[in-house]
Amino acid sequence: MDIKSLTSEIKSSALALGFHAAGITSVEPFKMDEKRLEVWIDGGSVAGLQYMRDSREMRAKPLQLMPEARSILSLAVSYYNGEFDPLPQGHGRIARYAWGRDYHEVIPPRLDQVVKEAERIAGRGIQARCFTDAVPLLERAAGKRAGIGRAGLNTLLINDRFGSWIFLAEILWDLELTPDPRETRACLSANDCIRKCPTNALVAYRVDAGKCISYHTIENHGVIERSLRKRFGDWLYGCDVCQEVCPHNNRIERTDWTEFQPASGAGQSLSLLEVLDIPDEDHFQSRFAGTPLLRTGRRGLVRNACIVAANIRFEAAVPGISSLAEGDPDPVVRTHAVGALAEFSTQAHRATIEKALKDPADEVQAEAAAILAEAGSSGPTPTSTARD
Ligand code: SF4
Repeated sequence: MDIKSLTSEIKSSALALGFHAAGITSVEPFKMDEKRLEVWIDGGSVAGLQYMRDSREMRAKPLQLMPEARSILSLAVSYYNGEFDPLPQGHGRIARYAWGRDYHEVIPPRLDQVVKEAERIAGRGIQARCFTDAVPLLERAAGKRAGIGRAGLNTLLINDRFGSWIFLAEILWDLELTPDPRETRACLSANDCIRKCPTNALVAYRVDAGKCISYHTIENHGVIERSLRKRFGDWLYGCDVCQEVCPHNNRIERTDWTEFQPASGAGQSLSLLEVLDIPDEDHFQSRFAGTPLLRTGRRGLVRNACIVAANIRFEAAVPGISSLAEGDPDPVVRTHAVGALAEFSTQAHRATIEKALKDPADEVQAEAAAILAEAGSSGPTPTSTARD
């Protein structure tokens, strides 16, 4: 079979196996995108994403991942399941990509099927490496060069049919295939993503991770800056704002992958009371097994629930948050519980906040001190001193 026919048959088979877009690119380095990556990292926009720093030398050079590779099959899978239902009272929102099952578990078996099918078509064994997300490769650069989407101002890859609600995956293999034309069209540049980002995290084609709600609610496992928390609104896990406002995402088809439907995973939102009540990591792990929410650990999700409860003034959460402030074993949780209580009322929770000044953890003390300084007093009241 000639290379052109082989390429065409393999791409068709990937689409037949359920992928929503498939394109081929070469294994040449992504030189322009490497420069952008350097600017992003050296400009300080990478925040705590240490793995981006650690792998910066490799990301633009596919052959460092697999020296025998001769082409890359770039794939996209839609996870779009429509808009949010009205948010139940006392719930926090989950970003759409995380409504269903974890794509890190769902997509790889289908990539293996694509390789098997390619072996059948090529009539020989194939050396291949399959990736989705967890790979030191510039996936969006690969997708753009393989023609499956254009670069969005919001930094995401935008497919004509499925918008930016897509997971990306790649197969590097020792198959010589014909590259597709690179996508050269620009984003519609409506600027809505930049204007409507709640934290001003975006400039054109670059996100400041240190301001991004998705970064903080998912990847940041520590204390979140006090000045940012209010802007999180009701986002409990991730943030979809820069995709929701994108004109490329109008009238987009829903995915047919049932694994990504809300009923297959954590759903569109979670009860804050339920999250605040998760007693330990074991309970957290079994509650969210198989979903992307595992990434935050109990600490991250309970911390986020404290932020959202305060933002939406969900008074029913106050008793649970008070208990966390007083006795949770995790200092990050205690810090955020103290911070949330202050958002409800520094005066009403003054005794708990003052007690936190003597917490064994520095971050809890710092939180309490900042709250009391803002309230105009950094010293304990006589009542709390007596209780200590
Ligand atoms: S995910 Fe949210 S916070 Fe992050 S850049 Fe997009 S709109 Fe801004």
